[in-house]
Amino acid sequence: MAELSHFPFVKVAIPSPLRRCFDYRWPAAFGKPIPGTRVQLFFGSRRVVGIIESVMQTSDLPATKLKCVERVLGEQAVLVEPTLSLARWTAAYYHHSLGEVFAMALPLALRKGKRAMPETPLIYRLSITGQILDANTLQRAPVQRRIVTALQQTPFMTANALNAELQNWRAGMKRLIEQSLVEVAEQTLLPTQPLAHSKALQPAPLPTTKQQHALDEISANQNKFGCYVLHGVTGSGKTEVYLRLASEAIERGKQVLILVPEIALTPQLLSRFQSRLGNSLVSIHSGLTDKETHIAWWLAKTGQVSVILGTRSAVFTPMLNPGYIMIDEEHDSSYKQQDGCRYHARDVAVKRASLENIPIVLGSATPSLETMHNALSGRYKLLTLPQRAAKSRLPDIGLIDLSKLKAHDGLSQPLVAAIGETLLRGEQSLIFLNRRGFAPMVICFQCHWRLRCTHCDANMVLHQDRNRVRCHHCGADKPKPNQCTDCGNKELFPAGAGTQRVEQALKDRFREANVVRIDRDSTSRKGELEKRLAQAADGSADILVGTQMLSKGHHFPNVTTVGVVNVDQSLFSVDFRSAEQLYQLVTQVAGRAGRAQKKGTVYIQTAYPENECFRLIRTQNFDQFVQTTLSERRQAAYPPLSYMVLLRASSKDPDTAVQFLRKARATALNFKSNVKITDAVDSPLAKKSGRYRAQLSLISNSRKTLHTTLDQLIDELENDKTSRKVRWSVDVDPIDFY
Ligand code: ADP
Ligand code: ZN
Ligand code: ZN
Repeated sequence: MAELSHFPFVKVAIPSPLRRCFDYRWPAAFGKPIPGTRVQLFFGSRRVVGIIESVMQTSDLPATKLKCVERVLGEQAVLVEPTLSLARWTAAYYHHSLGEVFAMALPLALRKGKRAMPETPLIYRLSITGQILDANTLQRAPVQRRIVTALQQTPFMTANALNAELQNWRAGMKRLIEQSLVEVAEQTLLPTQPLAHSKALQPAPLPTTKQQHALDEISANQNKFGCYVLHGVTGSGKTEVYLRLASEAIERGKQVLILVPEIALTPQLLSRFQSRLGNSLVSIHSGLTDKETHIAWWLAKTGQVSVILGTRSAVFTPMLNPGYIMIDEEHDSSYKQQDGCRYHARDVAVKRASLENIPIVLGSATPSLETMHNALSGRYKLLTLPQRAAKSRLPDIGLIDLSKLKAHDGLSQPLVAAIGETLLRGEQSLIFLNRRGFAPMVICFQCHWRLRCTHCDANMVLHQDRNRVRCHHCGADKPKPNQCTDCGNKELFPAGAGTQRVEQALKDRFREANVVRIDRDSTSRKGELEKRLAQAADGSADILVGTQMLSKGHHFPNVTTVGVVNVDQSLFSVDFRSAEQLYQLVTQVAGRAGRAQKKGTVYIQTAYPENECFRLIRTQNFDQFVQTTLSERRQAAYPPLSYMVLLRASSKDPDTAVQFLRKARATALNFKSNVKITDAVDSPLAKKSGRYRAQLSLISNSRKTLHTTLDQLIDELENDKTSRKVRWSVDVDPIDFY
C-alpha cells in the first residue's frame, strides 16, 4: 500500500438508511478535505452526493478496495459548526443514519448538488424613458410593444413571468435594452425589502411587571446557554415576550430562530411578527418551494435576515449570529417527526442552544411534563405569567353530564341553549371536536355489522356531502354502500358525530346563523383556510365548528362560548400521556374563549364527569395538575421519570413483525442490562394500509444504559436476516403509541 500512502482517507456520510459512514480515498489534487463538504462519489453502482464526516490518515480497509471521491461540490463546507455537531448529535441520539440526518439539515437543492449560494433571478424593468414611452410608437415591433405594455403594468418581471405571457420575447428584449428602454438587474434575494423607517412598525405595549421580569432574566444572561420555560396562561403575553426579545437581539445585530407548530394555520402570528419586527424575516415551512427554502436557508446562514420563523424542520437552519432560540407552544406534538429520523425539534433546539451558547425560551400555557420536570428539578429556569395581559379573565369551565342527558347529532340540549344565547348577544361560539367527516361509523342495526376498511383495522368514516366513505388511516375512499354486506339490510345508520354532522345540525337549528366549519376537508382548497379564519376573526362567522385546527394559537376576540363535544375516547387511551394531552387540548381550546373584554364560558360534554382529569381541568390549576400527574408517572416509572424507546415493526403477513420483535426482545434480555423490555405486542392500530404492525418498548431510569443497550441491539438486528423481511424503526422518546 506504500505507493498510495500520500492519500489521506475520508469517512463519508451517505443518504442511506445504513447507520454507518463509508471510507473513500481522497485524491491529493483536491487539497485539504474539510468535514461538512459535499462530495460526489459512487456508492455501489449509484452516483450520489455524500458529505465528508471526518478525515483520516489510515483506513481499516485496504486502500485498493476503496473507491475514490469523484468530485468536490462547492468550494466551501455547507454544514459548518455548530450545525455539524448538532446533526451528529441528532443522528446518535435518535439512532438514525448520519447521512440521512445531514441530508435533512440541508435544503433539497443542496442535497442535489446545487451551489450553496442560490442563483438570483434577473429582473427586467422599464427605464425612466421606457416608463414615459407611448407603446403605440412601437407599432412596427409588436413583440417590443407587448413587452413594454406588460412592463408598464408592474414594477418588474422575471424571465419566468415573461415566459408565461409572451413567446420568443428575448430578441425583442435585447433591442429594448440596447435602446435603453429596459434595464436588467439582479433581483435582491430578500423576499421583501426591510421597511424604510422603524416608525412604520407597530408600537409595542409597555411590558407588565411579570413580562419585564422574564425579559430581564433572559437578557441578563444573553451570552450563555440557559433554558427558560415561559409558562403563561393563554393570552398572558408570551408572544409579546418573544417579540421584545427578538427586537432586543436584532438591535445587537443578532438573529433569532422562532419555532411554531404550524405557520399556515396562524397567518395572524406571521403578520404580527412582520408588523412588529419589520420584514427582515423569513418563514420556513413545508409550503415553500425548494427554491424558496434554499433562499431562506442562505439568507439565514449568511446573516442577511434577522428573524427565522419556522416549523419543526427549521431547527437545523444555520445562523451566522445567533442570539436567541424560542419555541412557541413547546408541548405541541407537531414538533416530533413521526417518520424517518424521529427527532423532537424542541429537544434538538435545546441541544442547539447549548452548542451555540445562547438562551432558549420554551413557551406554553401547558408545558409538557418533560419540560416541567426539568424546570422543577432546576435544570431549566421557570418564568411565569400567571395573568392574562389585556383586561380579560380566564373562562369558566363547566361539565355537561352525558350519562344523564342525551346528545343529538353530537350536541346536548344545554350546549345548544348556550349557543342560542350567545347568538342573541351577538357573540360567537366555537364547537370543537376532533373528528372529521359526518359520522365515524356506518352500522347495520339488524345484525350489528360495521363498515370496516379492508386495509386497516379501522371503521370507514361517512362523508355525507359526497355520499362516500373514507378511511382516515390509509385514505381508501369509495361510494357509501346501500346495503349491509352481512344480512342485506338496506337501512344503514351513520353512528356518532363528526364535524360535518355537527355543522349540519347547527345550520338546521339556527337557520339565520352563519356556521363556518374549519377542518382539513373544508380547507383543502387554496385560500379557503384564510377565508374561513378571517370570518372567525372579524366576527362574521357566528358559530365555528372544527377540529384541532381551531385550537392552535388563534385570537378570535368575539368568541365567548366554547363547546368541547367529544373527548371521552382519550380517557381510555392506551397512551400514558392521554390525560396530559387532554389537559393541554382543553386548555388550548378554552383559551380561545373570552380573550377580549367579555368573559367566556367553556362547556365540556362527557359521560364521565367524575373523572379526575376533568376535576383538574376545571380548577385550571396547572401546578396541581403537574404535581398529580408527575407522581403518577413516578409510580408507574413512565417518562419523564424514566426514559423510553419504542421499537416498531410491520410486515405483510400477521406474524413476521411480531416474531421479529419477540426475537429482538430475547436478544436484548441476553445483554442483562438494567433495562425493562416489554412484551412484543400488536400495535393499537394493528393493521394499517395492508401491513400488520407490532411494537415493544425499552424503559430505563438511566438514559445512558438505555442508549447503550439500544446500540447493541440495533447492531444485532441489522445483522439479522429476518430484519430484511420487515420494516422496523426506532423511536426514541416516543409520543405516539398507535
Ligand atoms: P400569549 O402569546 O400568551 O397567548 P399574547 O402575547 O398574544 O399572549 O397577548 C395576548 C393579548 O394581550 C394580545 O392582544 C396582546 O397584544 C396583549 N398584550 C400582551 N402584552 C401586553 C401588555 N404588556 N400590555 C397590553 N397588552 C398586552
Ligand atoms: Zn346487517
Ligand atoms: Zn384504511
